[in-house]
Amino acid sequence: MSAMNDEIELKRIMLDIGHRLWSRGYVASNDGNISVRIGEDEMLITPTGVSKGFMTEEMIIRMTMDGKVVSPGNKYRPSSEYKMHVQVYKERDDLNAIVHAHPSYCTAFAIAGIPLDKCALPEAILTLGSVPVAPYGTPSTDELPDSIIKYIKKGDAILLANHGALTAGVDLLTAYHRMETLEHTAKIMHLAIGLGNVNVISRRNVERLLDIRDKMKISGRVNTSFPED
Ligand SMILES: [Zn+2]
Repeated sequence: MSAMNDEIELKRIMLDIGHRLWSRGYVASNDGNISVRIGEDEMLITPTGVSKGFMTEEMIIRMTMDGKVVSPGNKYRPSSEYKMHVQVYKERDDLNAIVHAHPSYCTAFAIAGIPLDKCALPEAILTLGSVPVAPYGTPSTDELPDSIIKYIKKGDAILLANHGALTAGVDLLTAYHRMETLEHTAKIMHLAIGLGNVNVISRRNVERLLDIRDKMKISGRVNTSFPED
């Protein structure tokens, strides 16, 4: 497939993911952003000021990692959070796609300052690991990318304090699916906490899950520093 066809296909997937984010209520209004790395020094990224549920291909912006727009004639401006995306690509050359959204349960945990670090669900351990809350950083400033550096080195999913969530992956769908798993996990944990008890999976069984993860060659990195039960 030519690079041009590749780019068209990637844009199509970005529109589809944008629609899924919006229809699942993971973003309100013009919130959220999606990017995919193309080549050494460029990425495709969603525009600012547009609902991610109703984007068209010509809105997607091609830009260099140092912030130069290279889509000729594009009248849209890149996401104001593009620096956070660049930071992730800089830290992790195994990650090629990023989804950032404000899903309700993830964001509630991020506001409460409660990490999703309990070994409660096998699927979450396999695909996300322990998910930390990165300290608050003002959106669009360097504070936000700076706040995630130490966390993105350890795992592919992060809650952003008083803001939302970020997931990344080897490709767009992997990054998006991690966001779904993250929000699903946050919702279930919220319900379990409400029931008044959270039983965790024993360390021995967590080790077995991590072995399975190795055998299945699941891409990405999971933070395995769960608090002792
Ligand atoms: Zn945001």
